[in-house]
Amino acid sequence: MDFEDSPELASFRAEVRDFLDAHAELRRGDERDWSRNGAATDEEVAADYRRRCREWQRTLADHGWAGLTWPQAFGGRGGTPAHQIVFNQELARYDATSGFITAAQALVGPTLMQHGTPEQQQRYLEPLLRGDEWWCQLFSEPGAGSDLSSLATRAVLDEATGEWVVNGQKVWTSNAQYADFGILVARTDPDVPKHAGLTYFVVDMRTPGIEIRPLIQAQGVAHFNEVFLSDVRIPAENVVGEVGDGWRVTRTTLRSESSMISGAGQATPFTALLALAQQRDRDGDPVIRQGLAHVYSNELIMKWMGWRTQTAVMTGRYELALHGSLLKNFFTRSFAQKVGLALDIQGAEGMLSDDAEGGGFWQYQFINQFASRIGGGTEEVHRNNLGEQALGLPREPAVDKDVAWNQTRRS
Ligand SMILES: Cc1cc2nc3c(=O)[nH]c(=O)nc-3n(C[C@H](O)[C@H](O)[C@H](O)COP(=O)(O)OP(=O)(O)OC[C@H]3O[C@@H](n4cnc5c(N)ncnc54)[C@H](O)[C@@H]3O)c2cc1C
Repeated sequence: MDFEDSPELASFRAEVRDFLDAHAELRRGDERDWSRNGAATDEEVAADYRRRCREWQRTLADHGWAGLTWPQAFGGRGGTPAHQIVFNQELARYDATSGFITAAQALVGPTLMQHGTPEQQQRYLEPLLRGDEWWCQLFSEPGAGSDLSSLATRAVLDEATGEWVVNGQKVWTSNAQYADFGILVARTDPDVPKHAGLTYFVVDMRTPGIEIRPLIQAQGVAHFNEVFLSDVRIPAENVVGEVGDGWRVTRTTLRSESSMISGAGQATPFTALLALAQQRDRDGDPVIRQGLAHVYSNELIMKWMGWRTQTAVMTGRYELALHGSLLKNFFTRSFAQKVGLALDIQGAEGMLSDDAEGGGFWQYQFINQFASRIGGGTEEVHRNNLGEQALGLPREPAVDKDVAWNQTRRS
């Protein structure tokens, strides 16, 4: 495979560099970079980070760089995955990010483009692309995470008004406290097997009856929330896809989610780890050097894995594309190794928290490895996917496959 840019990509890369040079600072790899403050425990710093993410997204939109691979009909640039890769490669050198706006775009964009009505696409896609409206994902529940399709939040049609009335509880809802809208999956028919009775909605997060309770994590920040829904009224036009066909729509969101996660980690590039080793004068230590080499190799492998998949997709040779589950699990393993090495480099100080140099940045990332192993589907579930879908191993027994949801045993 030829990894050199084609003449067209080389000129695109030059154009990207010109844009980034004009609008962003080069990344320093330490606490001076605002783009690594997504994990800040200081609320002022965190609020400043969110403001800058919004600002950066608007800068992208104003200059025609938002939605690089989105079709032009939806306000995107109509580029290929290769353009996106080149853009990300260049952006990684700069102190700029759209933070969780990128995640929301990955979850909501493809879903609405594929399953939304023209009115929904018209209403929601542009503000999503510009980062003007923020979104959250109301899928997981206390009794339904890996087995998402067993969820229990109920939506009942009010025949008199034509609205759906929703009751239930969601959990682990990232950034719900800042969201304008949510994508919500609820059970509209409990009398059919679990996958068949679901419907997918867009919900305005300011609707009466929605209560958001932040969950404070081990790092001291509330990345995600519990969301309680009590008699929440959703207009009929907010159903995405068909009533009862919500699982098909949900699968579009989930597929996009795991590939989005495997492209994360820009706040902790190899260069940041190397800078830390150099600052601590540990870059001559043979054990640390070996760890650095390993982390660097993993970053290259991730890059080539991404290339391979994108090239396969672009050339229609889908059989050569790597499975999203493989990318996600490789990413989370590599991330764990990288952040573990950062603490080794810090030595005894690695055991501190906010008092460690850099405000505990690497400590936060170290704890965050566990979240990345769970969010977007756990490692075990992705291994199951690989076993069944890539290796053709026998499927897990599904005892409730043909049983009405209200007759199944649930936690
Ligand atoms: C950082 C983060 C952000 C998140 N953001 C959101 C969000 O915005 N919106 C949202 O809806 N959800 C979100 N989630 C929730 C996430 O999708 C779920 O945590 C995840 O799907 C696992 O579900 P669970 O926590 O209920 O664990 P469970 O499904 O109860 O799993 C418990 C354990 O059992 C294992 N297990 C379960 N089933 C199997 C199986 N079939 N085979 C082998 N092992 C199995 C799991 O691997 C895990 O170790 C987020 C989670 C994290 C960590």
